[in-house]
Amino acid sequence: MHSEDVEGLRLIDHHCHCVVKTDLDRAGFERLLSESYDPEPPGTSRFDSPLGLAVRRWCAPVLGLEPFASPQDYVARRTALGAEEVGRSLLHEAGLGALLVDTGYRSDELVDLPAMGALAAVPVHEIVRLEAVAESVAESGVEASRYPSVYRDALEEISKEAVGLKTIVAYRGGFTFDPEPPDDADVVRAAGPFLEAAASGRPRLADPVLLRFGIWSGARLARERGLPIQFHTGWGDADLELHRANPTLLTQLIREFDRLEVNIVFLHCYPFHRDAAYLASVYGNVYFDVGSALHYHGPSSAGLLAEAMEVAPFSKLLYSSDAFGLAEQYFLGAMLFRRALGATLGGWIDADHCDTATARRIADGIARGNALRLYPLP
Ligand SMILES: [Zn+2]
Repeated sequence: MHSEDVEGLRLIDHHCHCVVKTDLDRAGFERLLSESYDPEPPGTSRFDSPLGLAVRRWCAPVLGLEPFASPQDYVARRTALGAEEVGRSLLHEAGLGALLVDTGYRSDELVDLPAMGALAAVPVHEIVRLEAVAESVAESGVEASRYPSVYRDALEEISKEAVGLKTIVAYRGGFTFDPEPPDDADVVRAAGPFLEAAASGRPRLADPVLLRFGIWSGARLARERGLPIQFHTGWGDADLELHRANPTLLTQLIREFDRLEVNIVFLHCYPFHRDAAYLASVYGNVYFDVGSALHYHGPSSAGLLAEAMEVAPFSKLLYSSDAFGLAEQYFLGAMLFRRALGATLGGWIDADHCDTATARRIADGIARGNALRLYPLP
């Protein structure tokens, strides 16, 4: 497998967030190098991590520095260039074809979709978060009896232009919920306390009945419009309880969605990427990726992608960066993905498991073709 076979692929990044609006100082930059809420131990730096090392090795040259620039020099160079120029350079180097952006998380800190499209110079499409719609409905001050219909209407309206839906139920109790849809009477009962709490502060949807209602309302819309539903899966930030984010816990829901022909995409998945690969191999409606794990793995990203490719059909794995805030994450996600894909398929060719033409077809599918088939991109 030649490096140009993967270098030339314009990746469809099917799950990412926008970059931060402002310039970052050393502390602000380091905060975005980790999913932890805790400060690093005194006397240590987040640059001393697989991701921090990858930034020094691979991002420094894109910004005109020597590889392995010191953290100090790196952040100083970033400041001298300015957030916009840094974003443009790293996003350009990522070699992207389109971005599918989740707009439901900390969006007030991030640039908006048109600005993101201008920075990346590629088409940008929206993915709507089911829980964010519920929270905005609650903020609008609706009565509990009307919550089911107002939510359904709001979801339909907000996702008019969207190419997919997403749930973060993994963060709100995990995947051990009842897989059946709740009836409207149960939803109205559960909506009362949620709406009351919303009236006295920023609402947070954590009620299991309302979460299930959101997911099933999403499934109905997804079926109508041919949208896939993304599930945050596996690791995330400290708000998550990892053992409840294993995708095999959703097996019954997967079967129900399969009957309805609603596609599910498991995002991130680490360390359950093998579980996700297995599910993708036995259920027609399951897709998955290892987004965020690629850049957070840095030097170990090739091993991770090889594991994700052990048993899954080649049509079921997608590329995403899950970049959040830092343009470095878009670039590293893409660059480490290309290296990992080239190394894995190159190894298969060298060991005579695969021919070059087939490897090229597999690479193109994972990099863009599978996403183009799964999402209704205009
Ligand atoms: Zn994400």
